This record gives sequence, structure tokens and C-alpha cells, in this order.
Amino acid sequence: MTAENRLFITLDEITGLRFECAHCHAKLTILMNNAFPSSLLTCMNCRKPWFEGEHDSRVKVIGLFVTAFNQLKQLELKPPVDLEISNSVVFDHASNGKD
Ligand SMILES: [Zn+2]
Repeated sequence: MTAENRLFITLDEITGLRFECAHCHAKLTILMNNAFPSSLLTCMNCRKPWFEGEHDSRVKVIGLFVTAFNQLKQLELKPPVDLEISNSVVFDHASNGKD
């Protein structure tokens, strides 16, 4: 018998987006209920640019994602919508996990 473990999280459990600097690996989390901060354009630790200014299409997409996510939460959908985490663990009970 093979069982598949799946992980689901509710929309309320998503609280922020975490960014990690590719240069110094400093991490910054912005809250989902806040507007996209202009301080995110450069690393707060090493000052390397993360984006090419406020008109960088990636900045716009991130802002649109946060706006759409917050709108989705406010819909109070019935039935409720959960998010599934893709890194599910597959466990084979027949082998007792000794693969
Ligand atoms: Zn950095």
C-alpha cells in the first residue's frame, strides 16, 4: 500500500513573502497585508539591487500578486479554499520507509 501525504495551508496562514539576497543571503519578509515597500528594491544588508527600479516588471507582478491574494482572502469563499504544498512526501507502507 502506498500512502501519499499532502500538506494544505489556509489562506490565513500565508502571512508574508520572504526574499533572500542572492549576494549576501540576507532575508527579508514583507507582510501580505502591506503595500510593496520601495525599500525592497535593494538589499538592506549589502545594498545590491534586487530589482531594476519601481518600474521593473517583477516588482509590478509581486504587487499584483499581493493585491490579488488579499482580494481572494476577502471573498470568504464557500467552500473555503486551501493551498497545497507541492513537496508532498510519498511513503510506501509495505517497505516501512526502508527504501
Ligand atoms: Zn544582500
